[in-house]
Amino acid sequence: MSTSKLRRVNDLDEYRWSVVQNRDASAAGSFVYGVVSTRIYCRPGCASRQPLRRNVEFFSTPAEATAAGYRACRRCRPEEHLAHDPGLEAIIELCRRMERIDATVDIAAFAAQCGYNERHLRRRFTEVVGVPPATYVRIQRAERARDTLRSTGSVTQSINDAGYGSSRAFYEHGAPQLGMTPRQYRTGGDGERIAYTSLVTPIGVVVAAATARGVCAVRIGSDESALVHELMAEFPSASLCRDDDGLSQLVDVLASAVRGEGDASTLPIDLAGTAFQARVWNVLRKVPSGETLTYAEVAKRIGSPRAVRAVGSACATNPAAIVVPCHRVVRSDGALGGYRWGLATKSTLLEVERDRRRDLNP
Ligand SMILES: [Zn+2]
Repeated sequence: MSTSKLRRVNDLDEYRWSVVQNRDASAAGSFVYGVVSTRIYCRPGCASRQPLRRNVEFFSTPAEATAAGYRACRRCRPEEHLAHDPGLEAIIELCRRMERIDATVDIAAFAAQCGYNERHLRRRFTEVVGVPPATYVRIQRAERARDTLRSTGSVTQSINDAGYGSSRAFYEHGAPQLGMTPRQYRTGGDGERIAYTSLVTPIGVVVAAATARGVCAVRIGSDESALVHELMAEFPSASLCRDDDGLSQLVDVLASAVRGEGDASTLPIDLAGTAFQARVWNVLRKVPSGETLTYAEVAKRIGSPRAVRAVGSACATNPAAIVVPCHRVVRSDGALGGYRWGLATKSTLLEVERDRRRDLNP
């Protein structure tokens, strides 16, 4: 199986996607994007038709896109050198150096060599690339490790191949990017015991699941068996078993939460997500019941004010309804925005929470 088929998502990809969507040409040269359905790759800012997110994959260089079987777009000519902005050139060169397996780039020395102030270069790097230099290095390593893990299945091998100096460095910096510990990632959650239960509430059937570490899924719908099947599809290698007694406390908390009582966001969670998603979800868990934030405010709070759309997709992919209260995020114009489990449900949850808050603080 080719690794390019695997959906790889991280902060950098989310940022790059927002650049593509905005046809922002300022990052041109720092990456290219390939469109799976046409096998053509473009540079950001290309005026051609916008692809669908699921058809897009990102490459650091035109050479990588070519190696993956893409042809250069005739319109934006991504393979041609952009030579009119020396500052941008320096940043792109810095990216290329950081992508090397044994990357230990001395940014101060590099800046001096190009005649730039180091702080200025770092700031410009973050503006153009979307993440600071240190994060860029970490993401590149984590991606390499993930690719090797998928293809060889060896944790030790992938730590070495990805350029981590030691397994400790990998577990500190690489593992959190994967969302699971490396051994689990390799096997797809194999051997993990996941308990689930369900309850019927005014907003519908709620199916909730947890590992030994915390809540891993909360789904809302009308058909319990469909929701359970969804869980099975999401954790194909885990052993999923119904445990109503073991999860009775979780049921109590959720039953109260849908009436606007208590606070489900204090429950321990065990969610697989990217570093970006985790940052969004953590912010959501701090929004008190009865209050809302806008997508833009969440983006600001996680330190990526331009990533408003990426925040929206992190909300839309939230695996644990209510526990990660993504229903408390609304649009700046006051409209509800979207909700994975239906707008009527979102509106009901917000209403009961507001009512409850009014009761408590008349
Ligand atoms: Zn193009």
